[in-house]
Amino acid sequence: MATKLAGGTTPDLDAMIGLVRTLGQEKFAPRAARYDADATFPFENYDDLRDAGLLKLCVPTRHGGLGADYRTYCLVAAEMGRWDGATALTFNMHACSQLWTGPLADDLDMTAADRAELETLRAGHFRRVVEEGAIYAQPFSEGSAAAAGKAPFGTLATKVDGGWLINGKKIFASLAGAANYYGVLCTEDKPDRTMRDTHYVAVPADAPGLTVTGDWDPLGMRATVSRTLVMKDVFVPDQMQLMPRGLYFKAATAWPHMFMTLSPTYMGIAQAAYDFTVQYLRGEVPGQPPVKRRMYPTKQIAVAEMYIKLQQTRALFERTIAEARVNPGKEARLRCYATQYTIMENANELCRLAIRTCGGQSMLKSLPLERLYRDSRCGSLMLPWTAELCLDRLGRETLYEPGEQDD
Ligand SMILES: Cc1cc2nc3c(=O)[nH]c(=O)nc-3n(C[C@H](O)[C@H](O)[C@H](O)COP(=O)(O)OP(=O)(O)OC[C@H]3O[C@@H](n4cnc5c(N)ncnc54)[C@H](O)[C@@H]3O)c2cc1C
Repeated sequence: MATKLAGGTTPDLDAMIGLVRTLGQEKFAPRAARYDADATFPFENYDDLRDAGLLKLCVPTRHGGLGADYRTYCLVAAEMGRWDGATALTFNMHACSQLWTGPLADDLDMTAADRAELETLRAGHFRRVVEEGAIYAQPFSEGSAAAAGKAPFGTLATKVDGGWLINGKKIFASLAGAANYYGVLCTEDKPDRTMRDTHYVAVPADAPGLTVTGDWDPLGMRATVSRTLVMKDVFVPDQMQLMPRGLYFKAATAWPHMFMTLSPTYMGIAQAAYDFTVQYLRGEVPGQPPVKRRMYPTKQIAVAEMYIKLQQTRALFERTIAEARVNPGKEARLRCYATQYTIMENANELCRLAIRTCGGQSMLKSLPLERLYRDSRCGSLMLPWTAELCLDRLGRETLYEPGEQDD
C-alpha cells in the first residue's frame, strides 16, 4: 500500500525508493501493457505520482518539495524505470525541469541580479508543481543539429512588451497533450544568434498558437506520446521564463551530468530484464505455468553473464551519479559519456540476452519482456548524448585537450 510524502523536508532515500517500488509493482507494471498497446499517456500513473507527493521530488524543500538532489533523483528514477520505462522517461522530463532550475542552477556562477531573478521565476514554477500538481515537459529536439548541442535552436523567442513571442517546432515532445507546461529551449531573436542566446521558457499547454500535431506509432516507449509541438506567435509572459537570459547555456556547459538524466530510466529497464529472466527460469512468472528451466547449464551461464553485465553497468551508474557536480574535472566528464553509453547499450543488450535465454514463449506480448526490449532500443537514440555522440565526444576529448588542433 503506497503512502504519501508530505514535502518541506527530504525523506529518507530508502523511503522514496520504497514508495516508487510499491507504486511500480502494484500499479504501473500491471498497466504498462495497455498503455503500450494503445500508445497513450499513463495519466493514472501521474495521478498516483501526484497523490504520493512524488511530482515534487526535485522541488527544493524550502519551496515545499522533497528536495531530491541529482543522485537522489537518479536512484529514484532508476527504480521507476524498473517497473515502467515510459512513465520513468516522461517523469524525467518533468522532474528535471525542477532539478535543473533548482539545485543545479544554484551552483552556477551568476550575478546577484540574475540570482534574484532566478529565485523569483522558479518560485512560480515550483508553486505550480507543489500546489497545483502541474506536469512539465522538456521539448528540445527539432530535427536539426541543435538538440545535439551543435547549433542554436531554430525555435525563436522574440522580446515583446511583457514577455516573449515564441515561433517554432519541436519534434518528439514527450508528454505532448499531457503536460501542463512545455519547457521549451529557443534562441533569443537577435542578430548573429549563437548558442549563448539559448533561452529556456515554459509555454502553458493552453497558450493560443500552440498545437500538438502528427501521429505517434513508434517501436518503443509508446506511452511517452512524443508528438510534435508547433508554436505560432505564442505569447509567453516574462514570468514564465524558467531561467534568466543566458543562464541555460552556462548550465549546459558547467553541469554536463544534467544530460545524463535519461539514463536512470534505462538502468531500471536493464534491471527489469534481469529480474524477469530469473523469475522465468525459476518458473515463477505470475499467470504462467510453473515450468522450471533453471537446471540447464546453458541457462545458468547465460544468467551469470547477464548478472555480471548488470553489475558492471550499475557500478558505473552509481559511481558517476555520486561524483556529479558543477565544473567536473576531465575524468569525471569523460566517465559521464562512458556511463551514458554503457547504460543505453547494455540495457538493450540485457533485453536481447533475456529473450535469447528465456526462449520463444518469453517474447509473447502477454509478457513484459518484448516491451522491455523495444523500450530499451530507444535509449541510444536520445539526444544530446546518443551512443554515437558519446563515442564522438570520447574519441575527441580523450585525444585532444581543449583548444588543441592538428597542423
Ligand atoms: C521515446 C523518445 C522520447 C523522446 N522524448 C523527447 C523529449 O521529450 N524531448 C526532446 O527534446 N527530445 C525527445 N526525444 C528526441 C531525441 O532526443 C532525439 O532528438 C531524437 O531521437 C533524434 O532523432 P533524429 O532522428 O531526428 O536525430 P538526428 O538529429 O537526425 O540524428 C540522427 C543520429 O545522427 C547522430 N548525430 C546527430 N547529430 C550529430 C552531429 N552533430 N554529429 C555527429 N552525429 C550526429 C546521432 O547519433 C543521432 O542519433 C525523444 C526520442 C525518443 C525516441
